[in-house]
Amino acid sequence: QVITLPAVRQTDGEIEGAIIVFSDITEKKLDVIRMSDFIAMVSHELKTPLTSVQGYVQIVMARARSAKDAFAAGALDKANIQLKKMNALINGFLNVAQLDAGKIHLDKSPFEINTLIAEIVEETMLADPARNIESSPCFPTTLLADKEKIAQVIGNLLGNAIKYSAHGSRVNIGCQVDPLAIQVVVTDCGRGISPKDREKLFDRYYRVDNVTGESISGFGLGLYLSAEIIKRHQGEIWVESEVGKGSAFYFKLPRL
Ligand code: ADP
Repeated sequence: QVITLPAVRQTDGEIEGAIIVFSDITEKKLDVIRMSDFIAMVSHELKTPLTSVQGYVQIVMARARSAKDAFAAGALDKANIQLKKMNALINGFLNVAQLDAGKIHLDKSPFEINTLIAEIVEETMLADPARNIESSPCFPTTLLADKEKIAQVIGNLLGNAIKYSAHGSRVNIGCQVDPLAIQVVVTDCGRGISPKDREKLFDRYYRVDNVTGESISGFGLGLYLSAEIIKRHQGEIWVESEVGKGSAFYFKLPRL
């Protein structure tokens, strides 16, 4: 990396000298690669035991239900929600590793967008029953896209809208179609994002400073992954926001 500073001039404007700084960033880059490899390896190792625990929880839950043991079924429901969150986190890390290795691929199939949104809204509200998510469906439209990955994007945006706004405040998801594209928007009345942070929001591992200080959990990967997924579908993703008032995250996908 080479940093060139402005020329040093005498009072009459004549150039007296210049400063060029060479800094070797090989180690820094290697650190990032080592960290990514490590995260990928740990995530991979966690995936198998997690899947197995999820399986056992499902079996015991079925038993608790048929034995009409409401307490056990309720507790297992809660455990299941947390396991799903862990699973989503691990999948996020694995997706980043796949992206790094250029191995992420889209598995496209036709699906109806309102149905997918309704499923994710229901799942998100199950995880946080106190939160009401309002939904404004669009004209029923079938998309040809990677359903699981688009679900991941919608889940990330809804999860963030809830995470970064006050308990009980309104979260909305809306959808619009035109002949060429479909546009989804997730709106919240939360803390909002400053213009300076908006520039870096979709960067990998980027988190706004105050959320790190307030220890709101997260790794700064959700928006990075969402942006990569939308870009790979030849779509666009962007945010409009006002500090203290709220944010609106949009994505647009081509219909054809
Ligand atoms: P994470 O939530 O895990 O930190 P994301 O990549 O999903 O990672 O988001 C990056 C950062 O963007 C968050 O840490 C937060 O500071 C900010 N952010 C994302 N969504 C919102 C939102 N709806 N309102 C305010 N800030 C947000």
